[in-house]
Amino acid sequence: MEEITKTLLRENGYKATPARLAILKIFFQSQKPQDASSICKKITKTSKQGKVNEVTIYRTLSALEKSGILRKVNLRKNSEYFELNKDHHHHIVCTKCSMVESFKDKNIEEVLKKVISKSSKFKNIKEHSLELFGLCVKCS
Ligand SMILES: [Zn+2]
Ligand SMILES: [Zn+2]
Repeated sequence: MEEITKTLLRENGYKATPARLAILKIFFQSQKPQDASSICKKITKTSKQGKVNEVTIYRTLSALEKSGILRKVNLRKNSEYFELNKDHHHHIVCTKCSMVESFKDKNIEEVLKKVISKSSKFKNIKEHSLELFGLCVKCS
C-alpha cells in the first residue's frame, strides 16, 4: 500500500510527505469519492498526532488533482469530492444519504462517441462525466 502511493507521488513529481501518503491511503482503501472533511475525520481517528487541519487537507487534495493523481467528482454537494484518477467509470448518488455506487457501461461509452461524431460544433472531447441522482433502496 505505502509503496504504491509513494511510487504514484514520485512519478508525478511529488515528495511523499506523511500527509500526502495518509490522504492517498484513504482513497486506495475506500474506493469512494471523499471530501476534505471526511478525510479529516478518518485521519484524525487513526493518526497519533491528533487533530489534522482541514485546510491543509483541502490544499493537498487540490495539488493532487492538478497533478492528475485525483479527479474531482460532482456530487452536487457544497463541498468538493475527489477520487483516484484511474479506470473510467460513472456514479449513482443517493440524494438523501449520499451513498455512491460506481458503474461502467460499454454501451454508454459507444453512445457518447456517436454523439460527439455527430456534432458539427465539437470535434475534440477530452473527457466526460456522468452522475445519476436518486434514492437508494434503503431511502426510498
Ligand atoms: Zn440513501
Ligand atoms: Zn464514460
